[in-house]
Amino acid sequence: MAATAARTQTWWNESLHKLSLHARVTLLAAVAVGLAVAIVSVAAYITVRQQMYQNLDNSLQQRAVQAARNGVLTNLTNLQKASADAFGLSDIRVGVLGANGEAYGAQQSPLPPLDEHELQVAQEQSSEPSIRTAGARNGASHFRVIAVATRYCPAGQTDYCSAEPDDFLKPGALVVAQSLGSIDQTLHNLGIVLWAFGLIGVIGAALAGNAVARSGLRPLARLTGAAEHVAVTEDLKPIPVTGTDEISRLAVAFNAMLGALAQSRDRQRRLVGDAGHELRTPLTSVRTNLDLLAQADKRGGLRSEDRQQLLDDVRAQMDELTQLIGDLTELARDTPQVRNAELIELSNVVEDAVIKVRRRAPGLDWDVQLMPFPVWGDERLLGRAVMNLLDNAAKYSVPDEAGRPTDREHDDGQPRGHVAVRLLDGVLTVTDSGPGIAEADLPHVFDRFYRSSEARSLPGSGLGLAIVKHAAEQHGGMIYARNAPGAGAQFTLWLPHAATQTR
Ligand code: ATP
Ligand code: MG
Repeated sequence: MAATAARTQTWWNESLHKLSLHARVTLLAAVAVGLAVAIVSVAAYITVRQQMYQNLDNSLQQRAVQAARNGVLTNLTNLQKASADAFGLSDIRVGVLGANGEAYGAQQSPLPPLDEHELQVAQEQSSEPSIRTAGARNGASHFRVIAVATRYCPAGQTDYCSAEPDDFLKPGALVVAQSLGSIDQTLHNLGIVLWAFGLIGVIGAALAGNAVARSGLRPLARLTGAAEHVAVTEDLKPIPVTGTDEISRLAVAFNAMLGALAQSRDRQRRLVGDAGHELRTPLTSVRTNLDLLAQADKRGGLRSEDRQQLLDDVRAQMDELTQLIGDLTELARDTPQVRNAELIELSNVVEDAVIKVRRRAPGLDWDVQLMPFPVWGDERLLGRAVMNLLDNAAKYSVPDEAGRPTDREHDDGQPRGHVAVRLLDGVLTVTDSGPGIAEADLPHVFDRFYRSSEARSLPGSGLGLAIVKHAAEQHGGMIYARNAPGAGAQFTLWLPHAATQTR
């Protein structure tokens, strides 16, 4: 049973989904009204039918009891003389049923076939009158038959009956039968009326559903057209929105999506443009160095140290190029969240980064305090972000290659910078003792390829902090920069705890 119901539902759902939305709305409206009409019609029909039968039974019973008491019709001499017309109603039949099963009816008013119901009353087996329906529905012999117990006077014994009723009156039942023809006809007419109005209701509902669907779906059609236009032309212009209904909200959401898409496309375009520009510089210097080498070879060759120097330069430029390409690839991943996130211990990531950077910049004081903090994320990306922060701290705290000291506090020739790294409650602060960041540069340091004019003499491409920001955003975190009072630049990276991340 349950399986059949489930199968019917599946079939219904599948069939509905095959239809267009327009057809579905029309069909559902028609079905809903059809069901409502059917329920109301059946209820009305049953109520009317029951009420009519109830009224008929009451009046029949009343009349039969009265006639039995009155005694005129229980005298067979009178009864047999009376004709149907005497009752004024040709659809009423009256008769007497003897306890022996013999039935006596009025002239031209034959009783419908009687059975044991009436006989039981006649034989005084049942004290209650019997009421039943006899004959086929809508047939000529469809009768409501009632039998009440009585005593009747056999034909030709009127005088004896009145003289000595106890000896001459016989037990029997007075039977009154009323044809159900008129009730059947009324119910039949009611049925036709209910069907007709039901049908009109269903057709009306289907038409109304059709009209509602057509007017309701018009804006949807417009929206579909706009989406198709975008798909064909790749023109991400927002579509005009009118009104405040659900479809308008859909259009607003669609426009928001177009906006996000356009921004993402712009970002990618800008990145490609910037990348092309930035890649050209190291490529040009590699090319210049190689040209130099070729020209020198033609002129008899370079000294081996000079040659080695040139080749080292080329290798360094190639490394820079590789680093740049790696950074660009990272930034080009325009996903809102990290993929392949795993549970990682941030303090370990920071510690590894500190070890690596320390090795590269040995002349620095490192003050490291790390508290464990688990995060969900991409270990490689976070490691790279932390490394970029530490690299900057190291880079901008020690003298550059030209020997220019950048650490204000220790410009006595001893290149000793100081870097403090703290990880407390998921907040990583990296504070250096370098020159800090000029106020004018602060809002831009996280932009791609942005480098302050002082930094241009140092190696780098200006992508390091852009990657830190990208990584922080991908992990649902934040990064900001300021100048620490009495020290150099201070970068604060905040990341959410693993337990609060929903994945
Ligand atoms: P890259 O990191 O790509 O090799 P970069 O270090 O110049 O190059 P970012 O790390 O993005 O680029 O930094 C951007 C700019 O912010 C730097 O050029 C520098 O001007 C400034 N900056 C970053 N960190 C510091 C710091 N610790 N002290 C002073 N200035 C800094
Ligand atoms: Mg950097």
